[in-house]
Amino acid sequence: MSKVLVIGAGGVSTVAVHKMAENSDVFKEIVIASRTKSKCDAIAAALPGKNIKTAQIDADNVPEMVKLIREVKPDLVVNLALPYQDLPIMDACLETGVSYLDTANYEPIDEAKFEYSWQWAYQDRYKEKGITAILGCGFDPGVTSVFVAHAVKHHFSEIHYLDIVDCNAGDHGKAFATNFNPEINIREVTQPGKYWENGQWIETKPHEIHQPITYPNIGPKESYLIYHEELESLVKNYPTLKRARFWMTFGQEYLTHLRVIQNIGMAGIEPIMYEGKEIVPIQFLKAVLPNPGDLGENYKGWTSIGCRIKGLDKQGKEKTYYIYNNCSHEVAYKETGTQGVSYTTGVPAMIGAMMYLKGLWKKPGVFNVEEFDPDPFMAELGKWGLPYVELHDVDLEFS
Ligand code: NDP
Repeated sequence: MSKVLVIGAGGVSTVAVHKMAENSDVFKEIVIASRTKSKCDAIAAALPGKNIKTAQIDADNVPEMVKLIREVKPDLVVNLALPYQDLPIMDACLETGVSYLDTANYEPIDEAKFEYSWQWAYQDRYKEKGITAILGCGFDPGVTSVFVAHAVKHHFSEIHYLDIVDCNAGDHGKAFATNFNPEINIREVTQPGKYWENGQWIETKPHEIHQPITYPNIGPKESYLIYHEELESLVKNYPTLKRARFWMTFGQEYLTHLRVIQNIGMAGIEPIMYEGKEIVPIQFLKAVLPNPGDLGENYKGWTSIGCRIKGLDKQGKEKTYYIYNNCSHEVAYKETGTQGVSYTTGVPAMIGAMMYLKGLWKKPGVFNVEEFDPDPFMAELGKWGLPYVELHDVDLEFS
């Protein structure tokens, strides 16, 4: 009998809860708690006949979180709120002795900087308490990191070059919208780029390095080197890597809007005074932009996310390898009422939670997903809507 407490009621939560409800052999009871309870109720109402309860919570408030966890008594807390809530929820899990899973690493609200150090610092305390924290279990980070673990376990003796390639070739029909929380998304893509090469991090100007990359069933798309959080843990966990980079596609329209937003100060995270009241420009911008959760209805096209790896195979011979998933926005919408980016994040969050509840990914301490056995996770991906394709000894398009 497993019970989960899901925090947050946005696009990713909608998909994860949908999939948990379908997987009721593992998820016997689900409680969704978020800042706005009506959003939790809407998710539950779309899944009639399932064992789902809802609650209101401000997850930044540790004592309130502790009280909620003690009332609900879950086996696992699944954090699908925002990266700002990671530490308070981890604190509450520590105090109550309940394990934790999330999809994005901690970021302080007043500084656009994401890194694992804050969450890795819980390692000894989680170990002593005998509970597990599973970090970054969405698609990227998440499936991309499991793809790397799978490649190392089954195909390579050493990996040397890793390029994670993330394409959203979908069209939602809006002039400008972000595919997940606008505040987090804009903070992420306007940062300087960064990649790992020959034992050090190389920093670039935002979007300085770009090239066309050909995505399966999509074709060539201009792709931009950005910094992405899984690079930090992958470089640490796979020290044979000589270079590790992350590429994401952006359309010209998107980049033009982004440039204007930055130039006029709307991406700012410092509070300003407006009519006697403090407001944060990027939070105001979020309020006027389309809600990512509502983009699904008219979203057409595909996402394609994967890992391109070069290294030595099990016999020590040079090998190239490409593993990816393509996901249709339309199919995701038909199934869950949300677009493909929420879908590709919510499904792995459910699978990661299942891995923990089945005792397959359960060990005391704080772990990134590549530190667990990739096999049982990979075996579930296709079943729950994210099949993957592996290509061996192909042209990776990178020198
Ligand atoms: P949304 O903005 O749609 O949803 C976030 C939810 O969290 C909202 O329901 C929001 O409440 C709730 N929330 C915010 N603050 C608090 C708080 N203090 N207490 C309780 N609830 C709170 O985001 P998404 O669903 O798009 O994304 C969810 C997470 O997934 C994010 O952390 C995002 O970074 C991550 N993500 C990870 C990806 C991956 O591949 N690894 C890809 C995409 C996203 P309210 O409704 O009141 O605003």
